[in-house]
Amino acid sequence: MPITVKTTATFAEAADLVAGNRAARFLGGGTLLMRDVNEGSVAFETLVRTTEPARAIRTAGSRIEIGAAVTIAQIQAERDLAFLHGAARLIGGPAVRAAGTVGGNLFAPSPYGDLATALLALDGVATLQQGASRREMPLGDLFAQRGRDLRGVVVSVSILRPESADAFRFRKVSRVKPKGAAVLTIAAHLPTSGGRIGKARVAYGAMAPTPIRARAVERALEGRSLDRDGVAAALAAAAEGTDPADDAIASAWYRREVAPVYLRRLLLNEPD
Ligand SMILES: Cc1cc2nc3c(=O)[nH]c(=O)nc-3n(C[C@H](O)[C@H](O)[C@H](O)COP(=O)(O)OP(=O)(O)OC[C@H]3O[C@@H](n4cnc5c(N)ncnc54)[C@H](O)[C@@H]3O)c2cc1C
Repeated sequence: MPITVKTTATFAEAADLVAGNRAARFLGGGTLLMRDVNEGSVAFETLVRTTEPARAIRTAGSRIEIGAAVTIAQIQAERDLAFLHGAARLIGGPAVRAAGTVGGNLFAPSPYGDLATALLALDGVATLQQGASRREMPLGDLFAQRGRDLRGVVVSVSILRPESADAFRFRKVSRVKPKGAAVLTIAAHLPTSGGRIGKARVAYGAMAPTPIRARAVERALEGRSLDRDGVAAALAAAAEGTDPADDAIASAWYRREVAPVYLRRLLLNEPD
C-alpha cells in the first residue's frame, strides 16, 4: 500500500494531523515504523514528521530536559547524561542507536522500551503536544494511556538528575549480549540519607505491556539499607503487580522467576 509522508513546520500541526487521522503515525527515527512499511503493514497509511527542532538537551536545576528527537547515539555522546550511557549502549546496534529517538522509545512495544524504563525510574515527565496546546504528563500516565486514548506527540521528556553516580542503577537481561531484546529490564533511582533509602523509584521493562513502576518493591525499600537484610522484603515483592508476556524471548513464568534474582544483583551491586 502506498504511504503518504507529510512534513510540518511545527509540532502543533503534526499533532493536529495525527489526531485527525486514525491511520496516521508520527514518525521519529523510523527504526520501527519503517520496518513496518517495508514489511507491508496496513495499520497506517500516513506518516507525519516535523522540521521543528527537538534535539536539545537542557539542564535546569535538578532536572534535565531531553528533546523527543534526541537519538540514542546522542545520549551516548552527552557528558551530562553519563548516568544513561549504560542503558543507551544496550539498545540495538549502531544503526538503531543512530536513528532511534527518545520519543520513539516511549512508544516501542514490549520487550522494547529500555530507555523508557530508565526515564520512568527518573521521574520522567513528558511534554505532550495536543493540538495547539502543550501539557505535561508523567510517564506513568502516558504509558497507561498509550495505545488507547492517547492522541498527541511528545516534544520532550524532563527527568531527575540522579543524586549521585551510584544512586541510579540499570540492568538489562537479554539472551543476545549486549544488544538483544529484553527478557527483563530494571532501572532504579535509590537516593539515600544516612545509609537509608528514601523515595526509591524502581521501574521494570518487559514485565508488562509498557514499562511499569514496581511499587511494592519501592514501598519495601523505604527507610531500608542496601544490604542483604534491608532488601529481603523488596525481593519477596519483586514480581508483585507485574504482567509479563510469553514471547519468543522468554515465558512469563521465566520473567517472574528471574526478576528477584536480577533485582538483588542491582540492589546489592553484584555482577551479572
Ligand atoms: C533491530 C532492532 C533492534 C532494536 N533493539 C532495541 C533495544 O535493544 N531496546 C529498545 O528499547 N528498543 C529496541 N528497538 C526498538 C526501537 O529501535 C527503539 O525503541 C527506538 O528508540 C524507537 O525510536 P524511533 O524514533 O525509531 O521510533 P519510530 O519507529 O519512528 O516510531 C515508533 C513509534 O513511536 C511513535 N513515536 C515516535 N516518536 C514519537 C513522538 N515524539 N511522539 C509520539 N509518538 C512518537 C511512532 O508513531 C511509532 O508508533 C530495536 C529495533 C530494531 C529494528
